[in-house]
Amino acid sequence: MSETSTSLDRVLVIAAHPDDPEFGCAGTVVKWAQAGKRITYILLTSGDKGSFDPDLRPGRLAGQREEEQRAAARDLGVEQVVFLRYPDGLLENTLELRRQLCGLIREHRPDILMTIDPWRPYQLHPDHRAAGQAAVDALYAAREWYIFPEQLIGDAEPWRVRELYLFWTDNADYWEDISLCLETRIAALARHASQVGLRMEELADRVRQRAREAGQQSGCEYAEAFKRFQF
Ligand SMILES: [Zn+2]
Repeated sequence: MSETSTSLDRVLVIAAHPDDPEFGCAGTVVKWAQAGKRITYILLTSGDKGSFDPDLRPGRLAGQREEEQRAAARDLGVEQVVFLRYPDGLLENTLELRRQLCGLIREHRPDILMTIDPWRPYQLHPDHRAAGQAAVDALYAAREWYIFPEQLIGDAEPWRVRELYLFWTDNADYWEDISLCLETRIAALARHASQVGLRMEELADRVRQRAREAGQQSGCEYAEAFKRFQF
């Protein structure tokens, strides 16, 4: 267990769908927000296909899921939520997406980037693979003068992210102690009523169980596990 540097103040979380951050890293998000870090979410899709009800049209569901995501983010102390509104289920790691995320990294200048581990074996959801890959590729592009140079006008400069945290990983090497904020994390997950609905009690148990297992690996009661890179 090691604590992240307190001088790394700005955090960007890039994920595929509303609820990914709450399933993946929300305990760390709320802990860091309480410690004064300034956190922004970027959601690549608005989860418009996330329903098994064929009568619920994607546009209507997207609006509901964005509201749920904003409420969860408010609970956690996230300052800003940005929706890029790519179509759910069809996300691809294109150069255009990389360019857009690179521009957002250069604009927000995060010290820390958190995203989905795209290399987790059998990460079956194509959006989860694409989101993680695009975020990491954008992190690399953002630090180069001659990649997407049209973004570097006026005072704009390349931006070097200092730390990368991948969640939903099978190769964890960093654990954040979330013992004091586990229940806040679970309450934020419950904000995604369209997704968790009647399963919330079962999901809460599963979140507690996973956090307990991660805690056992790192010597605390409850933890979240990440693959971490420091640059
Ligand atoms: Zn997802």
